[in-house]
Amino acid sequence: MSELAPKLPQRVRIVEVGPRDGLQNEPLPVPLVEKLRFVKALIRAGFPAVEVGAFVRPDLVPQMADTAEVIAALSTEERVVSGEVELVALVPNLRGLQRAKESGIRSIAIFTAASEAFNQANTRVSIEESLQRFAAIIEDARSSGIAVRGYLSTCWWCPFSGRVDPEKVERVVARLLELGCDQVSVADTVGAATPLEVRALLTRLVQTHPLERLAVHFHATRGTALANTMVALELGISTIDAAAGGLGGCPFAPGAAGNLATEELIFMLHGMGIETGIDIEAVRQASLRMEALFGRALPSRYLRAGPFVPRDGSA
Ligand code: MG
Repeated sequence: MSELAPKLPQRVRIVEVGPRDGLQNEPLPVPLVEKLRFVKALIRAGFPAVEVGAFVRPDLVPQMADTAEVIAALSTEERVVSGEVELVALVPNLRGLQRAKESGIRSIAIFTAASEAFNQANTRVSIEESLQRFAAIIEDARSSGIAVRGYLSTCWWCPFSGRVDPEKVERVVARLLELGCDQVSVADTVGAATPLEVRALLTRLVQTHPLERLAVHFHATRGTALANTMVALELGISTIDAAAGGLGGCPFAPGAAGNLATEELIFMLHGMGIETGIDIEAVRQASLRMEALFGRALPSRYLRAGPFVPRDGSA
């Protein structure tokens, strides 16, 4: 680690969300065999956590209909058996939690928003109502020994109501942690946050909560995801969500970038001497295979450029 950056974490935990947050936003479901090939490649690449699916209504979200089958098929993977990788599934309600329990998964993710307008549009209930629903889910999950991750959408900007008040975000983060979420991931859902806004909110959060209970989820929609990530790292936050290939763009805006691309994140972290435990080349190969399957380029710029190999071979 360079003496120029003594405060950066020595190791970062990357939560790979491509198989859920990424593939859920694809127009068509990925065939199970291809999805399994993708997820297994990611698990073997060394991620400490992979979000593999969602127990949402299959008629509404057919992309996630095979989540139980995915989890069952992964149960014999070496890193799953040894507990080195945490598999996570998104759960919207008690019915979803029941299905998650039946699948045998040990970790779930729930989601709400910091913007009232966004939460109403997305879930048709107020933030307070969604928190009350989650209280029951979190309690039930924890009593079954299932870890709970909370996602908080629209922490900086809302597509409906614009700027989101950091105090409001702070209150919802605190509630989610009080309710029993092990960690809360604060998300820039629309990809509009810029570094000083990120610093303003995260500075408040790190003063109130242990660093390991906070994570960040940035979108590369307008090119600020890595800069925002750097701000989080400088504040000591060491759990970063990312999606292989930058999967997760909006299906209604072809070509628009989605989640922070995992390869770009790993390249930046390793270049700064920060460990991840992940084989970047294995991730690149997994993403390239998805590009071939979709027949189009994914947003990750690392996929276009490839590994950096100086002409004198000095890398
Ligand atoms: Mg996302």
